[in-house]
Amino acid sequence: MPHSLDDLFAHNRAWSSQMERERPGFFTNLVKQQTPKYMWIGCSDSRVPANQITGLEPGEVFVHRNVANIVVHSDLNALSAIQFAVERLKVEHIMVVGHYGCSGVQAALEGARIGLADNWLRHIQDVRDRHRVMLDTLPPEARANALCELNVAEQVINVAVSTVMVDAWSRDQKVTIHGWAFGVHDGLIQDLALTVDGTKPLENLYRAAVQRIRYKWGKPPEPAAAAAIEAVKEARDAKEAGEAANGS
Ligand SMILES: [Zn+2]
Repeated sequence: MPHSLDDLFAHNRAWSSQMERERPGFFTNLVKQQTPKYMWIGCSDSRVPANQITGLEPGEVFVHRNVANIVVHSDLNALSAIQFAVERLKVEHIMVVGHYGCSGVQAALEGARIGLADNWLRHIQDVRDRHRVMLDTLPPEARANALCELNVAEQVINVAVSTVMVDAWSRDQKVTIHGWAFGVHDGLIQDLALTVDGTKPLENLYRAAVQRIRYKWGKPPEPAAAAAIEAVKEARDAKEAGEAANGS
């Protein structure tokens, strides 16, 4: 692992010549243009490198990162990146990717003071406050994970309501927004199943996503309650099996 700036340059030269040796013309082709299908909106956290996690090469993913993967309605940086990706590069998928163990989310959850970034993280505190009642019902150790996912859901909607996306969908451009969460602890991406392609009402998708997050991170039911739920499920399955057998 490199430790000095000289090491970084040495590593870079080695990488460049290895690429050219193994795939002659790689950089010549890259110069011509980039045609990524994907745009990644993620956290700046050094443990969440978009290309490495997804196995995508230079030229295959257009990346925008900031602290805690936030898309603010008036953030010209994020909006310009999204516009460039959608209108110029014609990406087909935009993934908003949060990650568990995000210190920005943790600070927002606790209301911890960091400094200037508090004003940025205030957007996540808004998400926290909107779902305060639900978060309070969750086990304390699950709250940061739940808020990480709620933040992803919120930012997916923020991308979806941007003029860039509204205009893209109004001219029938096929672009789909996805909500994902990355596990620093296991290296795996979870699809939060909040997928927006401009055809379904956002409110319904958002509510369903929040419900899933609530159930996912909520306390497991007490044994008696779990048995009752199981009995209801069995009765329903038996009824459906009976109906199917009767052809109704
Ligand atoms: Zn983070």
